[in-house]
Amino acid sequence: MQKIGVFVCHCGSNIAATVDVARVAEEIRKEPGVVHAEDYPYMCSEAGQAKIASAIKEKGLTAIVVCSCSPRMHEATFRKAASRAGLNPYMVEIANIREHCSWIHKDREEATEKSVILARAAVSKVNLDTPLQPGESRVTKRALVIGGGIAGIQTALDIADAGYEVDIVEKTPSIGGRMSQLDKTFPTLDCSACILTPKMVEAAAHEKITLYTYSEVESISGFVGDFTVEIRKKARSVDMSKCTGCGVCQEKCPSRKAPNEFNRGLDTRSAIYTPFAQAIPNVPVIDREHCIKFKTGKCGVCARVCQAGAIDYEQKDELITRKYGAIVAATGFDMIKLDQFDEFAYSQSPDVITSLELERIMNAAGPTKGHLEKLSDHKPPKSMVFVQCVGSRGQTCRDKSYCSKICCMYTAKHAMLIRDKYPDVDVTVFYIDVRTPGKNFDEFYRRAVEEYGVHYIKGQVGKVAPTEGGLLVQASDLLDNRQILMKTDMVVLAAAIEPDPDVRRLATMLTASIDTNNFLTEAHPKLRPVESPTAGIFLSGVCQGPKDIPETVAQAGAAAIKAVGLLAKDKLVTNPCTAKADELLCNGCSCCARVCPYGAITYEEKEINDHGIREVRRVAAVNDALCQGCGACTVACPSGAMDLQGFSNRQITAEVDAICR
Ligand code: FAD
Ligand code: SF4
Ligand code: SF4
Repeated sequence: MQKIGVFVCHCGSNIAATVDVARVAEEIRKEPGVVHAEDYPYMCSEAGQAKIASAIKEKGLTAIVVCSCSPRMHEATFRKAASRAGLNPYMVEIANIREHCSWIHKDREEATEKSVILARAAVSKVNLDTPLQPGESRVTKRALVIGGGIAGIQTALDIADAGYEVDIVEKTPSIGGRMSQLDKTFPTLDCSACILTPKMVEAAAHEKITLYTYSEVESISGFVGDFTVEIRKKARSVDMSKCTGCGVCQEKCPSRKAPNEFNRGLDTRSAIYTPFAQAIPNVPVIDREHCIKFKTGKCGVCARVCQAGAIDYEQKDELITRKYGAIVAATGFDMIKLDQFDEFAYSQSPDVITSLELERIMNAAGPTKGHLEKLSDHKPPKSMVFVQCVGSRGQTCRDKSYCSKICCMYTAKHAMLIRDKYPDVDVTVFYIDVRTPGKNFDEFYRRAVEEYGVHYIKGQVGKVAPTEGGLLVQASDLLDNRQILMKTDMVVLAAAIEPDPDVRRLATMLTASIDTNNFLTEAHPKLRPVESPTAGIFLSGVCQGPKDIPETVAQAGAAAIKAVGLLAKDKLVTNPCTAKADELLCNGCSCCARVCPYGAITYEEKEINDHGIREVRRVAAVNDALCQGCGACTVACPSGAMDLQGFSNRQITAEVDAICR
């Protein structure tokens, strides 16, 4: 039997307002093994920790229970406090009486009763705890950044500037991400390419950064400090070491009907192409789906005109395996598909476009060479209507429930740029709320209204219908409850943004969690906003949630510093709460290995002494370095041979018994 001390925290009034903490301490004193129980306003404070330490020393405690907030918040704090007082840190249990009691119950009596029950369960568990010793694992001093948008580029630059090797894996032929598609950027209205291109060049030229463009992560194994990643370098059909980027192949290629993804399909490109003029690397890719040579075996024009002999139709995908200490996800976003929003006539009229399409139209290298024109007849519009929140902040299943955060500002930007360049174009914005909380953002929006004469109407657009010579917009004015019918030449939809669709596959490989909207989840929304709950995985940019460029860059730097903090360590302390197989009970059935998400279980032929009978058996063996202590194997094992140290089957049963008592 342990000598147990129980420490009940008030958490100011967070717990004490709803739970009678003195009564919890009083009740728990009656439990077997409990030799000390007290309550205190802030157990996590220096004075609170000192109380724990002195009780451990004075009463010779061999185990402690802290009744407080979630273990995610302060388990490490209390383990360290116990360790400083000479107690093995794994002889500490937390009863979460804040999130599980005071924060979710209103009735003081019920919340107190439940707190006593949870404290009792923790006491039953700690009674069966045994001291554990953490192990050590080495750290590979190289980072992987997945996604080469502004987030990935900035994170890689910051890690590389700190002196560590970084690889960027980007699935498209060039780094740059969405920012490379933008024309001008709020709040300063500077040209996007002018501020992005130097960063792209810097990343490509940095001696510590390796770019894998037109590449994807195929598999990830291992754990924090020692990940093994397989990268598929897709065949460009162009030898990067020979290509000079002269562009002759693209000029001469006779297949010119492929939709141009970079211009959002508003024009076409050749089968051999570089996505945009400033692309890095400046090496084209053959799109095999549209290449005559790949489709029919004929053509071969590009190989004939290429003076450098760089075209290689036989090139195959290459698989590269590399080790990394840290991985940063920076996979960004796309705009939602609008097929479920047909009331806006997006599929019916070429003059209904998305905001990203407008960015390309406004850009000198875009489909209209920067001239604002209707795509139906290439004439300049006389009026334009912008519709905000298309698919954002909705209540129905086709909508995203969240605010896409950037649309209010980029719509003000678009409206302002159009009124500046084409003062005769009448611009109306239909909005639900204007949300401009960033630095200088509200001033920016007010300039659109006051200086540039953009009409803002608080109203919901119900329908856009193509009519004779234009588009008819039906809306309801939300302020004075009247219906509006407005004829216009072009409609621009601020469509919601959503995480890149590949993120689900990637999250599975990273064993990182995603939320209900597929954004990668942070370990703690306030205190650990750039770390994934999976150790060694960090988050940068819009893959974690909607952000503009300044916020993305700030988060990219934060993710980099976290990764550098990890890479700077030579060794990591590993969690000793790993699974162990009881060789006498194991029948080698493989159930555990099949469910282990970390590939930590192997089998070995071993001589087993089963009560005096010696025989060679196939038994499970757990690799402590790979095991993350998730417990899946302990549930799957039909023989009860798998047990998790610190969370053994006996301990869990004891907790359940204590709760049901
Ligand atoms: P992205 O730019 O999306 O980059 C992600 C990269 O990851 C992409 O290159 C993608 O190909 C790659 N990738 C995705 N999945 C994988 C994978 N599995 N493997 C490898 N690579 C992968 N912000 C401003 O501050 N000012 C503005 O004026 C402004 N205007 C905007 C206008 C519009 C219409 C839109 C839609 C956005 C605008 N923004 C603006 C927001 C800005 O675009 C984003 O803040 C920024 O692009 C986010 O960068 P990111 O790197 O997180 O994501
Ligand atoms: Fe274009 Fe012909 Fe080269 Fe294919 S083989 S990329 S069609 S030039
Ligand atoms: Fe020029 Fe040849 Fe490179 Fe095409 S593949 S850009 S022709 S060097």
